[in-house]
Amino acid sequence: MPVYSVIVPCYNEEAVLQETHRRLTRVLRGMDGDYEIIYVNDGSRDATAAILNDLAAEDACVRVVHFARNGGHQIAVTAGLDYAAGDAIVIIDADLQDPPEVIPEMASRWRSGAQVVYGQRKKRDGESAFKKVTAFVYYRLLRAMTNTEIPADTGDFRLVDRRVADVVRSMPEHARFLRGMFAWVGFRQEAVLYDRDKRFAGETHYPLKAMLRLALDGMLSLSDKLLKISTYAGVTLGCLSLLGMLVLLILLCCGTSGGMWWLAMLMILCTGMVLTAMGVLGAYVSRIYDETRGRPLYIVAETRGFPEGSKPFIR
Ligand code: UDP
Ligand code: MG
Repeated sequence: MPVYSVIVPCYNEEAVLQETHRRLTRVLRGMDGDYEIIYVNDGSRDATAAILNDLAAEDACVRVVHFARNGGHQIAVTAGLDYAAGDAIVIIDADLQDPPEVIPEMASRWRSGAQVVYGQRKKRDGESAFKKVTAFVYYRLLRAMTNTEIPADTGDFRLVDRRVADVVRSMPEHARFLRGMFAWVGFRQEAVLYDRDKRFAGETHYPLKAMLRLALDGMLSLSDKLLKISTYAGVTLGCLSLLGMLVLLILLCCGTSGGMWWLAMLMILCTGMVLTAMGVLGAYVSRIYDETRGRPLYIVAETRGFPEGSKPFIR
């Protein structure tokens, strides 16, 4: 069994793969344990498959998983996790935006007890102002909206302990937002700061549509606050309209009829009631959602002192 498994999702990366492998190998050879590199070919349509097969033929440390079709970045990494045999598992992009030279630093944090070591970006070279701004806003919004503490400016570049990978693997959800799932499981997490480089070659496969989808997956999978908005709005509107009616009643006692204002208040009251009812529905939906996700109820990091061979109940 290797100590380190490195997962590299690849989608149409013919322009970078040789250089990526060269740099990865140079770093990994200098590490304190043996390693495997798992390239997941996510249904590429260029020469990626052939290049990967060549690498596997030349280098005994290379494993390749070919997908039958494009499943997307998060799914490719998930498959890599399923195949990884190492004690520590590294996730890194193929395009060298995440510098492999950061891996030894991650490994040394892991050796000293961290169970998730995530790369946190100091600066983003060669990314559009649009991507920088949206990423900045998104990560902060996500943090405000979810109960899960997702570190800002953090992608999927990270090293995780085998136990953490096992837990994330066991989560069956289809909408996979891995950085959120890794944040959700807890354990000892530490950041390593690094400079995110430009893409070595080729171009991004994350068009705006895929980015929005990932962003929404992240929010919906970690938070049910969106469902609660309508309850808050409904209750607020209801209270306001009742208050308005009270004012109208007082005015009526003073001899002013209020006229159309009654109608307005009634309409606001009805809207409030409908929104509240929708919010109640939302509360049930969010519970159904929680249940169907089938996440583990608790996560055991370690046990000690039990007699040999005693096993807990498995759901
Ligand atoms: N990727 C993948 N499947 C896809 C899209 C991307 O496996 O459908 C891989 C890609 O080869 C790269 C990583 O995911 O290793 C990140 O993709 P990219 O660099 O295009 O995204 P960006 O860095 O621009 O967000
Ligand atoms: Mg990239």
